[in-house]
Amino acid sequence: MSAVKKARVAFFDFTCCEGCQIELTNLGQDVFLGLLEHIEIVEFREAMSEQTKERIDIAFVEGSFSREADRARLEEIRARSNLVIAYGACAATGGINALKNHTTDYKKFVYSKDANMPHLDSHNALPVSAAIKVDFAVNGCPMDRNEFVYIVSHLLHGKTPVIPNHPVCVECKKRETVCRYHLGDHCMGVIARAGCNAPCPADGIPCEACRGFIDQPNEAALVKVLVEKAGFSNDRAKNKSRMFTANLRSDVK
Ligand code: SF4
Ligand code: SF4
Ligand code: SF4
Repeated sequence: MSAVKKARVAFFDFTCCEGCQIELTNLGQDVFLGLLEHIEIVEFREAMSEQTKERIDIAFVEGSFSREADRARLEEIRARSNLVIAYGACAATGGINALKNHTTDYKKFVYSKDANMPHLDSHNALPVSAAIKVDFAVNGCPMDRNEFVYIVSHLLHGKTPVIPNHPVCVECKKRETVCRYHLGDHCMGVIARAGCNAPCPADGIPCEACRGFIDQPNEAALVKVLVEKAGFSNDRAKNKSRMFTANLRSDVK
């Protein structure tokens, strides 16, 4: 009897901190070894030196598209991959990198006299889907490793994974966590996309909406709640609400 062919999987990184790759290596020995029974990892810079130019079943792309010079590499990955999955907020939405899209003087602030060095040339930080077709996204900063396993196992079984489209508040209530607003704090879980099981409020810190917002979020209501219930100024509330969703907003400069 011949062995079932394993799916060829590769990981690629663009503009990011590579924290999502590290999160993968934190999957735990049992989960990781279980995955390796079904997939063959053919490129993964954080954990191996081998690279490939062969066809890939699933390409995982980390990081945002923020340099025109990266477009050709993304297109080349797309052309030889059956599925492309953007993993982590940077790749899925532009993530925290997209904060720069709303300011002009960040280079001078960060790099001072080196601000005009050619290698720092970049355009707006955009989701990978701005350059190539993306089949699925694993949300979060870092990406949620349980969701990663859920998505991969569904795809390997030929099923379509379902990504939650309800707010983090639902999961927070299921865990019976005391709401941050009841404790005089703020929180963005009211319109943040669930799927993480609300770990941040459970650990005593606000949800920062690292998984992005639900579809058709009522951002105006979030800003109102931050102002009226958490005492934020209107500007601070608007800036806060775009922390991981800067690409969704065109009204705040
Ligand atoms: S999503 Fe967060 S952890 Fe992942 S690469 Fe981007 S900044 Fe790093
Ligand atoms: S702590 Fe945040 S996520 Fe939890 S119920 Fe309150 S607003 Fe919603
Ligand atoms: S609770 Fe909010 S900030 Fe924390 S992991 Fe979930 S979406 Fe991200």
